[in-house]
Amino acid sequence: MTPTGEQLCYTDAYARTAEARVAAVDAGAATLIVLDRTVFYPGGGGQPADRGLILRTDDGRSWSVRAARKVDGEIVHELEPGDGEPPAVGDSVRVDLDWARRLALMRTHTALHALCGVVWRDYGALVTGGNMEPGAGRMDFEFERMSGDLVDAIEASVNVELAAARDVRVDVLPRDQAFAIPDLIRTKVNLLPPGIDEIRTIEIVGLDLQADGGTHVANTREVGGIRVTGYESKGRINKRIRIELVSAP
Ligand SMILES: [Zn+2]
Repeated sequence: MTPTGEQLCYTDAYARTAEARVAAVDAGAATLIVLDRTVFYPGGGGQPADRGLILRTDDGRSWSVRAARKVDGEIVHELEPGDGEPPAVGDSVRVDLDWARRLALMRTHTALHALCGVVWRDYGALVTGGNMEPGAGRMDFEFERMSGDLVDAIEASVNVELAAARDVRVDVLPRDQAFAIPDLIRTKVNLLPPGIDEIRTIEIVGLDLQADGGTHVANTREVGGIRVTGYESKGRINKRIRIELVSAP
């Protein structure tokens, strides 16, 4: 289903606020709001959904948005329960992200791409999964020979790549063209459903190219540095590497 609301997070990761109109209200256990445009990221690909505020233009009344998600392709905002009478369909509002949190997620997400890029380039290990919170994340790899020494080398290489001020580019490609790029679908299990005819790609120029739906910073220098905080074996082949951001850009 084609969404009716404009989804700015995919085209401009730095859009932190937007003027919008309430398109739908579903007052259930938690009130769900659809806007005709939004800056919220609905979560997915290991990146949590945004939090923030919806502020009504007329009277300045505001509601906390505690989560967002996609329902039938539409980004739905979930209001904090107990915030009183929700806005009404047609109300003019401003939607604001918790920007400090989102920016930390964008930096963390980009750091994880740099980690994937280095591990693939230097060791040919495929990603099997990943997850993040603001400022920290983990990735799982098919990486049988991972060791403490290798992890130290990986940390150093990732920091070199981040400091190299590489641009991060977003593109949308026709499915056939995307699948023709070797190694594009870096995740071991290809989860892209057959019905999708366009693939969004994220490239850390010169290091990493992946199919991806999340939000990222525009240049690796905005990440700052990372530290490997742990690694563990999830089996003979599957290994997990945990990182955190250590310095502001
Ligand atoms: Zn990503």
